[in-house]
Amino acid sequence: MVFKAFDDLDKPDMEIIRDCVHCGFCLTSCPTYLQTGNELDSPRGRIYLMRSAIEGKIPMGEAFVKHMDLCLGCLGCETACPSGVLYGRLIESVRAQIERRYRRPFLERLYRSVLFKVFPYPRRLGFLLPLLYLYQATGIRKLVQSSGILGFSKRLLHMEGMLPSVESPFLSSNLPERIEPRGRRQFKVALLTGCIQSVFFHKTNLATVRVLVQNGCEVFIPRDQVCCGALSLHSGRLSEAREFARLNIRVFEREEVDAIVVNSAGCGSAMKEYGEILRGDRGYYERGVRFSKKVKDISEFLAEVGLQGNLGELRLRVTYQDACHIAHAQRIKEQPRKLIRQIPGIEFVELGESDICCGSAGIYNLVEPDMSEKLLERKIFNLRRIKPQVLVSGNPGCLLQIGMGIRKNGLGIKTLHLVELLDLAYRNRS
Ligand code: SF4
Ligand code: SF4
Repeated sequence: MVFKAFDDLDKPDMEIIRDCVHCGFCLTSCPTYLQTGNELDSPRGRIYLMRSAIEGKIPMGEAFVKHMDLCLGCLGCETACPSGVLYGRLIESVRAQIERRYRRPFLERLYRSVLFKVFPYPRRLGFLLPLLYLYQATGIRKLVQSSGILGFSKRLLHMEGMLPSVESPFLSSNLPERIEPRGRRQFKVALLTGCIQSVFFHKTNLATVRVLVQNGCEVFIPRDQVCCGALSLHSGRLSEAREFARLNIRVFEREEVDAIVVNSAGCGSAMKEYGEILRGDRGYYERGVRFSKKVKDISEFLAEVGLQGNLGELRLRVTYQDACHIAHAQRIKEQPRKLIRQIPGIEFVELGESDICCGSAGIYNLVEPDMSEKLLERKIFNLRRIKPQVLVSGNPGCLLQIGMGIRKNGLGIKTLHLVELLDLAYRNRS
């Protein structure tokens, strides 16, 4: 019997699959394989499944989808692979096929569609602010947590545990569209403010602007920018991701800038893929390639231009968690460490398995809470061994996820975005 698991639209590329020589060097870099020990939850096993599906040997059934869903898309396997297998492209295509061709149970579809109707839209997220504020400020949260009422759903429990603390019921005021540099202008950059970021991590955006301004940047923040498309891209909603990409290209190319700076891992890596995902789009492909070349993670940009001005002393024991979409997808590992080490007084200590995913991975922790929790436990185990005062990362999702683990385990470690640590050092100048 021959199965037709895939159609021709965004089909996984057989050339990439053939690059895999089955050496297995990627296995120990794969968080899901480390947890389950099951070959089919490893990169090599998943590639084998993809090949079998293309060859019509297996259907796109529950078992196939389960192994693909469990993949974090962390790309630890790409970093480890000596043959240069572009696993990320494969899993994106497979997810696009699953999204279009596989019918998930009704409640699962409903849950996922709510996530995608809300998360990429800051205004819709903004409507949740007063509710979350009341929930946290009035003691309802304590009541819910102590009652154990959410115990019936692992997903809700995980979501509740991760809620960022909401300091005001109102959406923080928008940043101005243009911010002048401190002193002479040396660079002009654009800033992606992000969806979840602009609502729940406004402070990180403010710190980013302050650090950029401090480093001679004029900052352009287009008001009509939209979601970068990362959540859609990494979940198989390719046409939605492409539409976000086209909109952002139009908005950001209005002004000539030296770099488009991003302070969230998944957003940066998705925007570096605009050219690739718009391949075949005659109106946008070349513009996408040009756009992607300008995208820089904030750590990449600052390390490249060199930190300017004096940093104040911070007497802290600090560690760094590599966000997967910074370390693996963008191959940025040294730059953040270099920046942290430049701060006087910091004692930097490496975190064991810092480049193994913490289980956050976009919406992964909301759809696969069991595996996500196991990976978080692993992270907490490694944190206990080095006992830092501060954990730094370049991605808000990782900070939320690990922050939840730190609170639950009473570790008393503060979590900061890299740019918040730099901002703190600049503000600590005597
Ligand atoms: S390391 Fe690369 S070539 Fe080797 S099994 Fe993994 S994906 Fe295949
Ligand atoms: S992307 Fe991450 S979870 Fe998925 S196969 Fe590669 S290493 Fe494993």
